[in-house]
Amino acid sequence: MKNVLVYVQHKGGVTPKVTFEMATEARKLADQLGGKAHAVVVGKGSSQLAEQLKSYPLDTIHVNDDADVDTFLLDPVVDYVEAAARAAGPSLVLVANTLTGKDVAGRLVGRLNAGVCADATDFKIDGGKIEAIMPKMGGAAITTCALKDGDYGIATIRPNAFSAQAGGSGASVQAIEKPSGKTYTVRIENDVEEGTGELALEEAPAVVAGGRGLGGPEPFDTLLKPLAKELGGAVGASRAAADAGWVPYSLQIGQTGKTVSPNLYIAVGISGAIQHKVGMRSSGTIIAINKDGAAPIAEFSDLTVVGDAFAIVPELTKLIAASKS
Ligand SMILES: Cc1cc2nc3c(=O)[nH]c(=O)nc-3n(C[C@H](O)[C@H](O)[C@H](O)COP(=O)(O)OP(=O)(O)OC[C@H]3O[C@@H](n4cnc5c(N)ncnc54)[C@H](O)[C@@H]3O)c2cc1C
Repeated sequence: MKNVLVYVQHKGGVTPKVTFEMATEARKLADQLGGKAHAVVVGKGSSQLAEQLKSYPLDTIHVNDDADVDTFLLDPVVDYVEAAARAAGPSLVLVANTLTGKDVAGRLVGRLNAGVCADATDFKIDGGKIEAIMPKMGGAAITTCALKDGDYGIATIRPNAFSAQAGGSGASVQAIEKPSGKTYTVRIENDVEEGTGELALEEAPAVVAGGRGLGGPEPFDTLLKPLAKELGGAVGASRAAADAGWVPYSLQIGQTGKTVSPNLYIAVGISGAIQHKVGMRSSGTIIAINKDGAAPIAEFSDLTVVGDAFAIVPELTKLIAASKS
């Protein structure tokens, strides 16, 4: 197994940031394996997305703007990725660990008779052998899974577990031919997007997270939401806040919650326990607002503002609003 292939999930050319994380990781893995880093991007908007992907360190981006990909459910995508994988030879295929990604990965496992590692957060390569590291049971256990050399391997990748770094000398963009002799029956009639209008936590460029120090649910709405809005970001929480029922578990960040990697992470009234840290440590700039200057979070934040969040956050929000206007 030498080459690494990234399946690029997108809609109309818009892709989640895990794509760029996978493109960066693909380069590292391919270099260690002595192979090439490929990406497959198909469907409407692919050519435009390929231009964006060119700034990441891939060797080849295989593109087809085929409208069938958006018209029929999954099969065309799987056909394209299978074709690219077969052209690359026994390779490691990276797929985002999203709902769609998991569907695609499951089918590829069957098509390529591949080994599979689900929800990988790290890799180790030893003498050409690939091992994927995967937290299980909410992070209580860490498992290692080795892929068999010489066969195909599929790894689904946890969003925000790897960092994305642009660079490289510019990938070549190549048209990938539509696999022939295929008929598709399951047509997408209607595409309904459900959402709250707020940014998804994992995609937000800024996250303002609250903890037990906020003392109740209201400050999440009255204190954190306005700050997150000014920053164009999303609100998150520690487990203590989620366990207390102040916010839904979907906002929990950490070992048993979500992993985030925004450019800016503001932790408000969060002590910085190791289980919280593992979910946000790869954030760009980390700011802690905490009454206690000796809280563990001060050890890994770039800036610790020592004081009462109820006094600091509204002032900060006002200052940001004023600087914008
Ligand atoms: C198996 C396991 C998995 C876990 N998974 C997670 C996880 O995924 N995510 C997670 O977050 N935790 C997780 N935990 C829990 C973790 O160990 C901590 O208990 C938790 O993160 C603490 O949350 P906190 O920082 O909000 O609360 P605390 O540790 O109680 O910290 C509150 C902080 O608020 C500060 N404060 C108080 N009042 C104010 C104020 N007015 N202004 C400013 N600061 C103030 C205090 O100084 C303190 O530092 C897990 C634990 C276990 C055992």
